[in-house]
Amino acid sequence: MKPVPNPSDAGNQRKKAIVVGAGPVGALAALALAKRGWFVEVYEGRPDIRLPSSKARTEQRSINLAISHRGIAALEAIEPAAASRFLESAIPMRGRMIHKLSGALDSQPYDRDGQCINSIDRALLNEGLLHQVAESPNINLFFNHRVTGVDFDGKTIAIRDSLSGKDFTTRFNLCIGADGSYSIIRRQMMRVVRMNYQQEYIRDEYLELKMPAGRDHAGQPTFLLDPNHLHIWPRHSFMLIALPNKDKTFTCTLFAPTAELDRLCSADSILTWFKSYFPDALRLIGENSLLEDFKRNPKSPLICTKANPYHYKDRAIILGDAAHSMVPFYGQGLNAGLEDVRVLMTLLDQEGVSSTLSTSDSRKDYDRHLDNALQRYTDTRHEDLIAISDLAMNNYVEMRHSVTQLSYLFRKTMDNL
Ligand code: FAD
Repeated sequence: MKPVPNPSDAGNQRKKAIVVGAGPVGALAALALAKRGWFVEVYEGRPDIRLPSSKARTEQRSINLAISHRGIAALEAIEPAAASRFLESAIPMRGRMIHKLSGALDSQPYDRDGQCINSIDRALLNEGLLHQVAESPNINLFFNHRVTGVDFDGKTIAIRDSLSGKDFTTRFNLCIGADGSYSIIRRQMMRVVRMNYQQEYIRDEYLELKMPAGRDHAGQPTFLLDPNHLHIWPRHSFMLIALPNKDKTFTCTLFAPTAELDRLCSADSILTWFKSYFPDALRLIGENSLLEDFKRNPKSPLICTKANPYHYKDRAIILGDAAHSMVPFYGQGLNAGLEDVRVLMTLLDQEGVSSTLSTSDSRKDYDRHLDNALQRYTDTRHEDLIAISDLAMNNYVEMRHSVTQLSYLFRKTMDNL
């Protein structure tokens, strides 16, 4: 373990931040603070996803994600080398490809000037950031360490080491909750902050399916669909989407109401349903693979949460899904979470927040600079986060339904011009 001092040690002048959660947002926040001279401890409840045997690896949500300019700008601001490495491994998606029930295809470019979103391996992104974290001399990273409580006024956090079963507490100057949708930091903050909080489960669940690679004439793996599109099979009350992977496979996600998915409880019902609504996708996925994925993969709920404020005094803040889970239909949940880190760091810099305790600072003192920065974060960030969350919810309707109508309307308008 790297020698990270406790803030209560006499003579220690460095501030200590605790980051809860080593997902992509927590990892990026830790790196950003370490670069500013803070000592950082990251506590992650699950095992290290970098270990091949890790259970957390198999429990990961969605295999790939769409990273847009928003997320890339945040990565570039904090870890420029890592950002270009991730981009090298990404597959650009320049538009949507709509798969009609008839099998006809309709390509809808995202941007006239070629701007695109990028399909990236979620594990690669998270593992890449964790490698950087592990290499930082200012960060100690603890896996299998679950945070169980926080005393914000005493600036201490309670942790359980799930391997040894031992409980302990440690001190902090700043606590960052990057612990996802069911955040304990958010729940603990609600005891001391008048936080407005809202959560909504939508009626749909999602299930992941794998579309294998094909083989070209030379027997080499090849994509079965155009890799530079995000593929959508809109069927009004449900839809299937597919994003490309580097190994020439596609990860498909089926979004459908729980009641609809519950009806698909036998091989016959699944295959009949797919033959009716997604016959072309079924041919590419393969019947056995489809049935296997239905059996093995979980059907997961989709939650939307909103909170305000995001911080407590000069000492705690929630970022990423801990602060704002959004439905995935705009592909912006993680992008917004990474942007949270960039925005927070800009405010820390603007407010002149130092990584060292000033000589006049005693532990009872308030860090006014930090307080100002966190207050400004809440004041300026909320509107943007609500806007993007609402856009995501609206896109839920558009992707299932209106993409077909919009292209129709667009064509009609063009015909009339
Ligand atoms: P998480 O990734 O949830 O990480 C939180 C971490 O905290 C976890 O590792 C957890 O183990 C840990 N933790 C929790 N509690 C504790 C505790 N008590 N103590 C210690 N550790 C704890 N976003 C996009 O931008 N583009 C997309 O294309 C996209 N597609 C998506 C598709 C689907 C199907 C879904 C469900 C989401 C998608 N998202 C997408 C959203 C994206 O997955 C999330 O926004 C992102 O993972 C949030 O990252 P995070 O680091 O905030 O939280």
